[in-house]
Amino acid sequence: MSDNQTPMITLAGGGLVGSLLALILAKKGYRVEVYESRPDLRRVDISAGRSINLALANRGIKPLEQLGLMSKINDMIIPMRGRMVHVEGETATLQPYGQHEYDVIYSISRGELNSFLLTEAENTGLVTIHFDSKISQVDFDTNQLSIVQGEHSQTVSFDKLIGTDGANSVVRDAILALNDNSQLSVDVLDHSYKELHISPDSQGQHKIDKQALHIWPRGQFMLIALPNQDGSFTVTLFMHTQGETSFATVKDEATINAFFDAHFASIKPELENLVGTYIENPTGSMATIKCGPWNYADKGLIIGDAAHAIVPFHGQGMNCGFEDCQSIAEHFPAANEAESADWHALFANIAKLRKPNADAIADMALENYIEMRDSVIQDSFLQKKAFAFKLQQWFPARFTPRYAMVMFQHRPYQEAYALGKIHDRLLQELCESYSSVDELTQQDADTLLTRYGL
Ligand code: FAD
Repeated sequence: MSDNQTPMITLAGGGLVGSLLALILAKKGYRVEVYESRPDLRRVDISAGRSINLALANRGIKPLEQLGLMSKINDMIIPMRGRMVHVEGETATLQPYGQHEYDVIYSISRGELNSFLLTEAENTGLVTIHFDSKISQVDFDTNQLSIVQGEHSQTVSFDKLIGTDGANSVVRDAILALNDNSQLSVDVLDHSYKELHISPDSQGQHKIDKQALHIWPRGQFMLIALPNQDGSFTVTLFMHTQGETSFATVKDEATINAFFDAHFASIKPELENLVGTYIENPTGSMATIKCGPWNYADKGLIIGDAAHAIVPFHGQGMNCGFEDCQSIAEHFPAANEAESADWHALFANIAKLRKPNADAIADMALENYIEMRDSVIQDSFLQKKAFAFKLQQWFPARFTPRYAMVMFQHRPYQEAYALGKIHDRLLQELCESYSSVDELTQQDADTLLTRYGL
């Protein structure tokens, strides 16, 4: 309980998840103190060539909708209706994400969304955000945080602490250190990424279709591009970190030019200041982090990337973190009932509900990398997709493709993952039994779905 009797919750980190959570908690009547290590991104440009835009999908939209924010976000988002697949020497083809016009995901600027959420949180009058304030130590025995602010450091007290401090979370470290049975796995992917840029045309318009997520799949590596509001695209190259064709070998003017000439000749002229941008922008690493427990008694909890960093290939990291926030919105009591709540049980329950789902999307995100960089151009993939769409069209209540379950529904990730495995076996059987979708009858499909328990 804080001095003025309004219960207070402390957040470590004011990134995407921390800023949304601060807002949600304030709407429930809590006072919220946020400690954020970086400067205020509304005043200082801190993007530094990393993940400028993101795909926002239904799971992330739900809490925003419930806070009545979607109407304010509408002019920040660009709908993407499918993957535009670019094969060298062929016309690009659109692979729609779903069969309905509302089966879209939205490109949004990370910085704009974060700024917007920080401002909305502050506007409640209950949220104080301390920028340039890095938490260096968490002490759950004394309920104190050590904070480094430039040259200075100070100690502050907390009652409840939620770690939204991202993949290198100090709150996670403190929670895991206190549990004899803690588990932590950090699997660093052997691929990295680098951001590039396509500027708008002379009219300020997008140079390629703006309502699609563009992919240039090349087997072991790929380029993707997501549209920005200003007519530009943020392009990301994903490639091995080490090895023959990798960030270790494609590294100077000659090798960059040769690599893009060999693999991305058609889009190369559009990549703004390719060599300069490539050399200047950092090469980012990606990891899957699974850990437990996510809470320490009634004092601490972690959510977002702090609890479950995943690779970005399903575009679900933020969406999953926002779903964590949604779970908190549904389970935490209003501030005026906080004193009588069993916080240990509340924290443990959030962790129990969310952890298996976070683990499932982590695995699906890894699988999706292979799909994006390779499978999307394989006939077998396209054939399975055609059968999947047909089944969904005939039996919408019994069959939704896994991608759509993850991106357009709210079915727990764990269920989507398990169902997806059954679907995969069924689709494999269809591909082996029929040479085209036209040969399949609705009655045969019905029988098959029943046989697979669907
Ligand atoms: P973060 O965004 O990492 O925020 C953590 C915050 O805590 C930061 O502001 C940091 O400064 C602060 N902090 C850290 N340590 C401390 C400390 N000790 N003290 C105080 N503050 C601290 N997700 C999607 O849903 N869709 C996408 O399309 C998508 N694309 C992606 C593309 C790439 C290339 C990458 C790398 C990720 C992508 N993601 C995507 C994932 C998404 O970026 C993350 O899941 C999301 O940012 C997690 O939010 P967070 O608030 O939990 O963590």
